[in-house]
Amino acid sequence: MTIATIDPTTGEMVREFAAHTPAQVEEILAKADAANALMAKTTFVQRAEWMRRAADLLDADLEHAATLAVLEMGKTIGTAKYEVTKSANGMRWYAEHAEGYLAPEEPVPAASVGASAASVVFQPLGTVLAVMPWNYPFWQVIRFAAPALMAGNTGLLKHASSVPQTALYLGELFQRAGFPEGAFQTLLIEGAAASALIDDRRIRAVTLTGSVGAGAAVAAAAGRNIKKSVLELGGTDAFVVMPSANVARSAQFAAASRTQNSGQSCICAKRFFVHADVYDEWLEAFVAHMAATTYGDPLAEGTGFGPMATAQVRADAHELVADAVAKGVTVRVGGELPDGPGWFYPATVLTEVTPEMRIFREECFGPVACVYKVTSIDEAIAAANDSDFGLAAGVWSADPDEIARLQAELEFGSVFANGNSASFFGLPFGGVKDSGYGRELGSFGIREFVNAKTVWTA
Ligand code: NDP
Repeated sequence: MTIATIDPTTGEMVREFAAHTPAQVEEILAKADAANALMAKTTFVQRAEWMRRAADLLDADLEHAATLAVLEMGKTIGTAKYEVTKSANGMRWYAEHAEGYLAPEEPVPAASVGASAASVVFQPLGTVLAVMPWNYPFWQVIRFAAPALMAGNTGLLKHASSVPQTALYLGELFQRAGFPEGAFQTLLIEGAAASALIDDRRIRAVTLTGSVGAGAAVAAAAGRNIKKSVLELGGTDAFVVMPSANVARSAQFAAASRTQNSGQSCICAKRFFVHADVYDEWLEAFVAHMAATTYGDPLAEGTGFGPMATAQVRADAHELVADAVAKGVTVRVGGELPDGPGWFYPATVLTEVTPEMRIFREECFGPVACVYKVTSIDEAIAAANDSDFGLAAGVWSADPDEIARLQAELEFGSVFANGNSASFFGLPFGGVKDSGYGRELGSFGIREFVNAKTVWTA
């Protein structure tokens, strides 16, 4: 894969980058290794000061950073600014909370384990490799980097090949803020080279956000080397609408979820299960919202959503739609590949989706919704759980008992009721089944890459 900025709005090559040579990669690894000794001598207070400074630098660069995200992956300028600001605030969150999250614990009274003192302390693992995707090119990286650095680790970023300028910007940010040289660096290498790098003893752990294939490759390399891995691999998230739901509001939120980031979000709703009692009314409202959410110039105010990030993701999404059309799906709106430059794709709603269609099981990373009619809560739960993925689900109902049952029985990493799924600094984020394992964010995220060390004294 070419490491390059290609503007998704025009399809034109903006700038190509040479991959780092083996000698450059070696130099970066050696710097990271040396930085571990420096990081080990720092305190939470010192790291928090640097982290806050990095957040301030990012805020000061808001226009530049947001414009880079638009140029490299096509999101709208408003959502790019939101993402950059969220990233800066996520850094401040960990600056404030890391020490508390990693405070030593005494899980049992010392005497009960025959000791005068017994506790658990949390120590950094060392260099963690982060293989990151292009869809939220700032936030995906920061939600790894902020906890990893605050825990005292060092980070190596292998970003998606389509966002090299964002990768290079982030590779400099933490050093500009005062972190030791080598504490956080960017590697310009291709995906397969990242998996091979896991064999290097200086890499202690790896985290990947992306496709199942890339996740499996990284997990295999980590397993072979007995190294910790965390995987966040997307989903075919369910959105359940029960008869008591606020139909107008849930239909509006559903369209917002499915079109956000041009449909290229791991936790946006993709499969919609609507109770027969409200199906017709809900579908009509949803299709109207989807039809009204149009694509356009991502730099213009008021654009619903921008182009898709790469020619390949658009082709992949359209291939799933075309396969469903060939097998008799009903297209309520969208579904046509537009003419003209750029990788735009319309908001699309499909009904009468059947198990023979690939889109029934596969993740469609584009603004394409599949709507299904269900006749009971049991059917809704069974249908929503009939997926290889399990990242996040949304449920809409006015009945607390119904919500409690759906939240208990849906097999996902999170279940949001009467609101769209999202990532929050203080709440764990991650999935089950093919959506991966491990958690990001909150106390769970920062504890993924630490040694929970038992210290016992007679
Ligand atoms: P990939 O999984 O290929 O890319 C994500 C990251 O993994 C990139 O940095 C990529 O590098 C890297 N990578 C790719 N192959 C390997 C490998 N063998 N070993 C180590 N790292 C690897 O996703 P795509 O960009 O190709 O998108 C394809 C699909 O993945 C989407 O349609 C969507 O379904 C899913 N996806 C999910 C995301 C999520 O948020 N969970 C985010 C992005 C994609 P490089 O760019 O150099 O190939």
